[in-house]
Amino acid sequence: MPTRNEVEHALLISLFNHNGVIREFGAGEEIVDEIANDFGLKEEQRTAYLETTYKKENRVKRSYLWHRLLFRAADSLAKEKLISRPSITILITNEREWMLTEEGYDRVLEILRIPLSQKEILPVKSYEVQKVVKKIFKQDRPENYNPLEKNKQIVKVTREANLRDRAFRQAILEAYGYRCAVCGMKIYSPNNLQWEVEAAHIVPRSSNGKDDILNGIALCRLHHWTFDVGWFTLMDNLTILASKRIIELPTDFGNLWDYNFMKRLLSNENLLIFLPEKKEIHPHPNAIRWHRMNIFYP
Ligand SMILES: [Zn+2]
Repeated sequence: MPTRNEVEHALLISLFNHNGVIREFGAGEEIVDEIANDFGLKEEQRTAYLETTYKKENRVKRSYLWHRLLFRAADSLAKEKLISRPSITILITNEREWMLTEEGYDRVLEILRIPLSQKEILPVKSYEVQKVVKKIFKQDRPENYNPLEKNKQIVKVTREANLRDRAFRQAILEAYGYRCAVCGMKIYSPNNLQWEVEAAHIVPRSSNGKDDILNGIALCRLHHWTFDVGWFTLMDNLTILASKRIIELPTDFGNLWDYNFMKRLLSNENLLIFLPEKKEIHPHPNAIRWHRMNIFYP
């Protein structure tokens, strides 16, 4: 049998490979077998058990050693605050799950020799970020919503700001199902770890736009760029409005092989973009109007 330390290590890596979250283990859960496979445990090691006889009730309880070892490893990681317990995670995700904490996430990156800066793009969840994501999804949608931050904030690279950034990105990508709201493009890297789609601000951050779901939209890189520079915008009813200047572009501009990306934008005018099911988290008309007035070139 592996030592508890080895199991703790394996559990952290397994959490990373499952995007930061695994279901609480019961008997026969996939994850229990998966980690056993990593250690090459034999059948008799997986099924070895202890029997406890409860004399009063006249019953025998079996506990599998491998499960106990795994549970104890998880318990000790939770004590070290490297993962959150299912009884705590459920308050955020509604599921009984073990989840990496920020500290646990840092530890795995260290083990795997991945630079900390990758936290910005990896789709791995952490308890602290999910807490902010939950808040973002529960945001009110007032008629007079202001997409700009009230006080011009001094941009500081604080831990809070970093969590907020990652939560904004995660909330937007999740809401839009990891695809571009304009073209529907959905693709990840060969190692499944990085999504191509980006979380775009409608009122850009450079103009003090808010990091919330009403001021966000998921866009592929090309549509993100074309949106940010004003080649297209959205109408209040969330249909596409393209710049008429596209017509004046040289004919060899905007081609992807034999497909003209820019002309397609123009012909997609009045088409509704792909949106999350819940209307309360759709882009707010006040944010869109701001973009139409300040960024878009008619
Ligand atoms: Zn796109």
